[in-house]
Amino acid sequence: MQVRNPPDAPQPARCRATTTCPYCGVGCGVAVELEQDQDSVRIVSLSGDVAHPANHGRLCVKGSALAETLSADGRLTMPQVRDEAGVLREVSWETALNLIAARFADLSRTHGGESIAAYLSGQLLTEDYYVANKLFKGFIGTPHLDTNSRLCMASAVVAHKRAFGADAVPCSYEDLERAELVVLVGSNLAWNHPVLFQRLKQARIDNPLLRIVVIDPRVTDSCEIADLYLGLRPGSDARLFNGLLAYMADRGRLDRLYLKAHTQGFDAALKAARREDCSLAAIARDCDVDVERLETFYYWFATQLHVVTLFSQGVNQSTSGTDKGNAIINCHLAGGKLGLPGAGPFSITGQPNAMGGREVGGLANQLAAHMDYETPGARELVGEFWNAPNIPQGPGHKAVELFAAIERGEIQALWIMATNPAVSLPDSTRVRAALAACPLVIVSECMADSDTLAYADVVLPASSWSEKDGTVTNSERCISRQRGLLAPPGEARHDWWQLAEVGKRMGYQAAFGYSGPHAIFREHARLSGFRNVAPRHKAGSKPLAASSIRRLFNIAPLAELDREGYDALRPIQWPVRRGEKGELIGTLRLFEDATFNTPNGRARLVPVTPQLPHQALSDATPLRLNTGRIRDQWHTMTRTARSARLMNHRAEPFVELHPQDAAARGLQDGALAQLAGRDEQGSVRGDYRARVRISHGQRQGEVFIPMHWNDHFASHGRAGALLAGLVDPLSGQPESKHGAVDVMPLPCEWQATLLIAPGVWGGHEDLAGAMAELEGCYWARIPQATLVRCQLAGEGQPDWALWCERHLSVQAGLWAQDVAQGGISAAGFREGRLIWWLKVTAGAARSDRQPNIAWLGECFASDQLSALERRSLLAGRLSGQADVGTMVCACHQVGELTIRQAIQSGDRCVEALGARLACGTRCGSCLPELKRLVEEERSDERTDSLEMA
Ligand code: SF4
Repeated sequence: MQVRNPPDAPQPARCRATTTCPYCGVGCGVAVELEQDQDSVRIVSLSGDVAHPANHGRLCVKGSALAETLSADGRLTMPQVRDEAGVLREVSWETALNLIAARFADLSRTHGGESIAAYLSGQLLTEDYYVANKLFKGFIGTPHLDTNSRLCMASAVVAHKRAFGADAVPCSYEDLERAELVVLVGSNLAWNHPVLFQRLKQARIDNPLLRIVVIDPRVTDSCEIADLYLGLRPGSDARLFNGLLAYMADRGRLDRLYLKAHTQGFDAALKAARREDCSLAAIARDCDVDVERLETFYYWFATQLHVVTLFSQGVNQSTSGTDKGNAIINCHLAGGKLGLPGAGPFSITGQPNAMGGREVGGLANQLAAHMDYETPGARELVGEFWNAPNIPQGPGHKAVELFAAIERGEIQALWIMATNPAVSLPDSTRVRAALAACPLVIVSECMADSDTLAYADVVLPASSWSEKDGTVTNSERCISRQRGLLAPPGEARHDWWQLAEVGKRMGYQAAFGYSGPHAIFREHARLSGFRNVAPRHKAGSKPLAASSIRRLFNIAPLAELDREGYDALRPIQWPVRRGEKGELIGTLRLFEDATFNTPNGRARLVPVTPQLPHQALSDATPLRLNTGRIRDQWHTMTRTARSARLMNHRAEPFVELHPQDAAARGLQDGALAQLAGRDEQGSVRGDYRARVRISHGQRQGEVFIPMHWNDHFASHGRAGALLAGLVDPLSGQPESKHGAVDVMPLPCEWQATLLIAPGVWGGHEDLAGAMAELEGCYWARIPQATLVRCQLAGEGQPDWALWCERHLSVQAGLWAQDVAQGGISAAGFREGRLIWWLKVTAGAARSDRQPNIAWLGECFASDQLSALERRSLLAGRLSGQADVGTMVCACHQVGELTIRQAIQSGDRCVEALGARLACGTRCGSCLPELKRLVEEERSDERTDSLEMA
């Protein structure tokens, strides 16, 4: 019901503000329109910020749906402490904070500061990260502070440091538009950084000479714009780029002048590359790619100067990810292809503030402000700046090691912020056991459906996007404001505040008496410039003062921002300096002067010996497992699952298989399958159950699964449970792209779709409990706007009537049973309103005729169904309504079957589909999928006509 203001009531005021998207590392600017009345502020519309340099007004489907994820339902609003009976009870902030401070102080006294650890997140703002790093490393005195960014780009960090002497990304997004050749390696840009993909796609339209190469074991939607695709063997990237280095040397395509003047280590790097046969045939064999395609790629790379190699998790998530990064960088250095417009190796981060975390020292092997423990004088410099008594002696445990240390009992207290390690870490079942055994687990979290909360002794409700206030840094070093626009619900508080309050209660009032994020940011900016000297130029350079440490990361001029200046800060790329007129000047591109942050100013080429994945295939686990992201979900779904339209693109966990692998296992498209790995003792590791998607884009012998599903949305959807916790020895990054599994059909005797009105069940526990009575072997929970959709499967022959009566709050008002086929259709009503709807089909195969969920959603929203609607309910659709199929366009809710029908009836291009169905006309995230469907349908047409001829 809408309540209108009386005529003399004050009208709500409207204003506009800009902020930054909290999802991927593109870091798009977001413009919001706010409406404010006496009681509250609301976001009434949201769009891309046209003035933001990352996106120039574009947003992808996740960014566009941000406003749909903001309801207070499902938010944590009060601190909680677990009592002696094991129940979480609400307490005051005072109680929770005092308890944490007292336990930390006690542990420090009895076991030393190193018994305390923190596990943070690239979702935190830089200000949160800074206070955490200062508290743990400076005052508690533990080096064990790591972050989930370890899972994302830690290998690139180490590769940068080895090559450039600093964790510095040389490029800007603009370089993608100025390149002659863009190489995507291990990056499905179309799904994981969609706005950057759209920029690249536009650049290709604007510059017909721009070529794009996609190197990935899977054919992904990023191939839509590829001139050349190399579907290499998983893990063979280093061999491929070593081969490229040798090719450049053999064909006289090295930049000898650049190598001589600005680098070191070339001979050793080339020698390492040549340890293996560098003939094209041998490399093509080892990488399992076509030799002509390989030569084309090598020729294009070697002969173009303006080359950007954009790499991401496909390179980083490996036991040799650091070497792979350096193999790529070696080729750029050897050809002098960096420090120029449109040239350079470009690591793209997964998270919105992975880079900000790196700036403050949020990785366990970093100290602060781009200084490491190994840097002479760094501990003293940071200790002096913070006036900190307890700077650790050396690096701490990286993520996977950290949980192993908890398992061993060395870590007694862990503070987890804004991340869900019970789902996201490899070998997550073991991680859960470690969390369960840890004497004190504190979880700062905004959402109630994080699996990690089950292990918390103290829960702290945190502010979320649109409430948090501070800065983030995206993949191109661009610092942007994420602005606090709305008040956090209930007693939720900012992460930096929680940390500072504990610091003060531990006796460090002076160090943590911040007035707000502005004060923290200024201190962070000052530390970046504290005894930092400008990068040395070779001619006339002065020796450093003994107490100085040269760092590329320097934003000292931003320390002068007053509160208003901070609030109004426009996006700016570090390093930042003042111009002659005092203006702030960012840095578009690094290393333009070919001076690097190494002791002698030269970049280092690193000898690389290619290695195969460490998770070994075997008879029991013959398939290579690739895990990754999907277009419409973010991390473990705690936020994106709140948007119904984002849930519909891939509604259930799935496994993509090559047709021959599927056929060999008797798996049909849409069937249910079960995946398992093996541990060192040969015992089963993990149990992942999902829908089969047969894909010609998948290499034979390899499977792909998404990394998103948590226990709230699927019974067996945790990808991390299948993976061994093997890591790169240098970066500590887990090998999440190279698991070893087998896939088999999931035995089931029935499948069902259950739709249920919101609120009938409290959450996933009710569903899981009800499924236990059914001998259920699989469920997926898919929240929609007016209902919750549950896909179920199980064994046996349940008494459905009894089950419905016991679990669905009201008896069936409509019931139809096909005794011969074992099928059931039923619906329950309360006061004329549809409360639940059920369709059961016998057998393991999914029903060909899926219900029309959109229409049924309207029925659930209706106060009173018409006679026709009621008559049509059990069929799951009105007569004549067609199946829409899997959702492709999330913005306009257009399904695959609708699109295929439109193509068959004459809409033979993406533009025509847009004109008829509106699909692809808003955020553009589905355009690659639309193009693929057009191509598939047209190639089917061609096949049909050839067969007829
Ligand atoms: S590409 Fe999408 S998810 Fe990434 S920052 Fe931009 S709008 Fe957000």
